[in-house]
Amino acid sequence: MTPITPESEQTPIALCEPFGWSHFYADAEDLRRQERLRSCRTVSPAPRPWIESNEGRLLDFCSNDYLGLSQHLRLKTAATQAIENLGTGTGGARLIGGTLPLHSQLEQAVADWKQTPAALVFNSGYQANIGVITGLCDRHTVILSDKLNHASLIDGAIMSRADHHRYGHGDTDHLERLLKQIPADKPRWIVTDSVFSMDGDLAPLKTIFALAEQYDAGLIVDEAHGSGVLGDDRSSGLWEYLDLPHSPRVLHVGTFSKALGGFGAYVAGSEILIQTLVQRSRSFIYSTSLPPSVIDANLSALEVLRGEPQHKLKLWENIRYFEQCMSHIGLTIQANSAIIPLILGDDAKTLVASQTLQDAGFYVQAIRPPTVPQGSARLRITLSACHEPEHINGLCSALKTLL
Ligand SMILES: *Cc1c(COP(=O)(O)O)cnc(C)c1O
Repeated sequence: MTPITPESEQTPIALCEPFGWSHFYADAEDLRRQERLRSCRTVSPAPRPWIESNEGRLLDFCSNDYLGLSQHLRLKTAATQAIENLGTGTGGARLIGGTLPLHSQLEQAVADWKQTPAALVFNSGYQANIGVITGLCDRHTVILSDKLNHASLIDGAIMSRADHHRYGHGDTDHLERLLKQIPADKPRWIVTDSVFSMDGDLAPLKTIFALAEQYDAGLIVDEAHGSGVLGDDRSSGLWEYLDLPHSPRVLHVGTFSKALGGFGAYVAGSEILIQTLVQRSRSFIYSTSLPPSVIDANLSALEVLRGEPQHKLKLWENIRYFEQCMSHIGLTIQANSAIIPLILGDDAKTLVASQTLQDAGFYVQAIRPPTVPQGSARLRITLSACHEPEHINGLCSALKTLL
């Protein structure tokens, strides 16, 4: 038996912190002074589009659950049944006992949905983007990426050690100039969001794809905010909406965690690219696979997309209705997605605006640098199929008072 040391004789916990830690305090203080200190607030769905927070019930205008599928009975039933039948975890990474038939089914369903030869499921969009870029690019590769791409794409490019250049946002002339400068013997990838997460605008994918073909580049398209929201019958994203063809040089990435109401991410493309990711993506290889409940909910989300077009239709009615209401208060906006930024510029002013809306019962998050460029702090408004016209009216009159 180990003798229990009386408390008085235990080694005292050091009261001073290790060398060099003082900068954590200085950093936090700096951020606070700049109105940039961030914190997580707790909110619960109550039910959508309402949320319950410490300040009471608020109408949620910042969720990415664009179709309200996270609360859909079919997804919830699929998840609970999967837990009852298969348990809560897989106990292994995909290559070491962590691949259930459900994972393969979901990958087949994604390939059908995206109309690609193959697909692979990752544990999140962040992990997918890191894994895809580090899996396909190395120090001999040139990566050209849009200046406003999501952080996960930037991080992937940095981690890959590729020669990474950023072109001006949506600027295909700039992109072409950079493509022309790449030495002929270098493999090259163009990387872009389809719908930009903080601006809601669309990448000029037709031109980008044409440039990829002309300059023999691969193309990675992140449809995190496009899938479920844009498209035709399949609602698979901007690629489908623009009627662009399948091409072996294109890899489609997206997440199940936004319009699809679940969690995890997908990568869809040609067999050789998917095969390469299985061999080389460390974020795929070295992480336990998603649990059956999550996979089954994602499978149901794809079925709901196909079988219940009313959710996407309602979302788009709401987007058009919001545009109308805004024009009544003198603001012309033209939305191309469920994301509508109101750029105020100043960080402190944006925080105050967000707080004022909250006091009026609306939850609209202030987005500040470094998530967006300096001087472009904004209110990021998102719409969903759960909103009703009276909710949108309410937000617009609160915005009128505010602005
Ligand atoms: C949200 C987002 C991701 C990350 O997806 P998660 O599944 O939340 O990790 C990746 N890319 C873009 C463009 C996103 O908006």
